[in-house]
Amino acid sequence: SDDFFTAQRDNALTYDDVSLATNYTDILPRNASLATSLSDRLMLNLPILSSDMDTVTEYQMAIHMALCGGMGIIHYNMPYREQVSQVTRVKYHINGLLPNPITIPIHLKIGDVLKLIAEKSYKFRTFPVVDENGRLAGLLSSRVVKERYSALEVKDAMEPLDHVHAMNEKDVLHDPIRVADKFFSENIGINKLLVVNSDGFLKGIVSLSDIERINAESQSVLKPARDSNFRLVVGAAISAIRKPDGSLDHDAIAEHVGNLVAEKVDAVAVSTAHGHSAGVGETVKFVREQFPDLTIIAGNVTSASGVEYLADCGANAIKIGQGPGSICTTRIVAGVGVPQLTALYVAAQGAKKKGVKIIADGGITKSGDMVKALTLSDAVILGGMLAGCREAPGELIEINGKLYKQYRGMGSISAMEKGSASRYGQDKKDTTRKLTAEGIEGMKEVQGTVSETLAPLAGGIQSGMGYLGAATLPELKSKARYVRISSAGMKESAPHDVIEISKRG
Ligand code: 5GP
Repeated sequence: SDDFFTAQRDNALTYDDVSLATNYTDILPRNASLATSLSDRLMLNLPILSSDMDTVTEYQMAIHMALCGGMGIIHYNMPYREQVSQVTRVKYHINGLLPNPITIPIHLKIGDVLKLIAEKSYKFRTFPVVDENGRLAGLLSSRVVKERYSALEVKDAMEPLDHVHAMNEKDVLHDPIRVADKFFSENIGINKLLVVNSDGFLKGIVSLSDIERINAESQSVLKPARDSNFRLVVGAAISAIRKPDGSLDHDAIAEHVGNLVAEKVDAVAVSTAHGHSAGVGETVKFVREQFPDLTIIAGNVTSASGVEYLADCGANAIKIGQGPGSICTTRIVAGVGVPQLTALYVAAQGAKKKGVKIIADGGITKSGDMVKALTLSDAVILGGMLAGCREAPGELIEINGKLYKQYRGMGSISAMEKGSASRYGQDKKDTTRKLTAEGIEGMKEVQGTVSETLAPLAGGIQSGMGYLGAATLPELKSKARYVRISSAGMKESAPHDVIEISKRG
C-alpha cells in the first residue's frame, strides 16, 4: 500500500476511487475469520460497530449488534443515568433466557388470566405463578388456560412447585444455552425451564423453541461477541463535560464513566467532530488515569498526528473520518475533511507507530467499501446502513404505503438541540448565536433486522478476503494491493447495460 499511496499523494481518494487486486488463494471465503480486537481486552467476532447516534444505537440495536458478533455504541443524547441503564439491559440480556417473564399472581382465577391475555394481547399462554411475596409457586400451563376452566382458581389449576422444572441461576447463568439444551434433551416433553435464585424468586425462563432457534442460528457465520463472563459486549459514548467556566468537569466525567464501568461496559467512546483537540485529549487522559483497564475509543481524526496524539493520551482505538458520513455536511459547511481511504492510510501510519487500533467511521454504503476499509483499519462503524433496521430507535413513518425511519446527523439542528451540540464544538445554551448545522435530517427505508442486514455484509467481507487470499483480517491488511479506478472503470464496476429486475444477489 505504501507505494500506491505515495504515488497518489497529490490525490486524496475514497472507496469508489480504488479497487483491490486479487492474489493466489487457498482460502474458502466461508472459512475466512472475521475476528478483530479493539484493545487487548476487547475482542469481536465481526469488525462492525453501530454508530453512537440517536437514530442508530440504543440498547435494542446494541443487543443485536453483539449477538451478530459486533458491538453497538450507545449514544449520549440522553440523561446519563438512562444511558447507564441501557448498558445494563445489554449486559443482562442472555440469549435464550427471558429475564423478566410475565407472571400471574396466585390468587387469580383462570377467567382473570384470559381477560389479561386479551387486554395485553399476549401471544403466549404459559405463565409462571408467584405467591403474595413474589416467590415462584408453580407453572400455569396453556393446557388449562381455556374458557372451559374460567371458574377454576389458578392455585388449583397450576402445576405446583414440586412438579415444576426449576434450576438455580448459579447452575445456569454461566452458559444458559448449553445448560438448557442439555436439560430439554434429558427431560422429554418439557418445553419451559424456570430459573430461580436461592431465595426462590423467579429470575428468568428459557423456552425450548428459543433454544432450537438459537441452535439453528449458530450454524450461521455470525457468532455473538461476549465478555469473559458470557455477557454481550457493549460500548457507550461519553463527552468532555465542562463547567460553566469552560474547564473540564472531572467529577462529572468520573461519575459518568464510573457508573458505566460498574455496569461492566466494554468500551467508552469520546466522540467528537475534531478529536485532535485539547478538550478531547484532556478527557481521554483523565479517563485513562481513572480507569487504567477500560477500553477507550476516541476521535474523530484524519491525520497520523491526530492518531498519535490520542494514542499518547491513552486511547486504544481511534475513529477515523471527518465528513464522509451520509448525513454529514462538514466538508460543505467548514470546507474541511479528507476523503476516507486516504484518511485511513495516513491514520494507519500513525497507528502502526503507536500500536493502537483504528476504526473507519462514515461513508460506508456496501460490503466492498468495508473490505477496502479493513485493508487499512481494524473495524468499521456504520450509521446509515443500520438506521433503517427494526432495532434502530424511532417510530416508523409511513409514506405512500412505504415504511421509513428517521436518520439524522448528530450535528443536525434537531439533534444538537437535544444535547449533542458540544460534539460539534457548539453551545446550545448560548442563545446569542444560532447553531450551525454540520449534518442533515433524513429518512431511511425500513430494511428488516440487524442480523438480516449484517449476514450478507459479513459474507461480502469474507468474499473479498477469499479473492485476496487472506484467512484473517491482519492478513487482509498485508495482502492488499490497490488499483485506481477511472470513471469508466466505476461504470464498469456496477451492474450495467441490463434492465435490473431484482436487487437480490
Ligand atoms: P454513515 O455510516 O451514515 O455514512 O456515517 C455515520 C457517521 O457519520 C457517524 O458514525 C459519525 O462519525 C458521523 N456523523 C454523525 N452525525 C454527523 C453530523 O451531523 N455531521 C458530521 N459531520 N458527521 C456526522
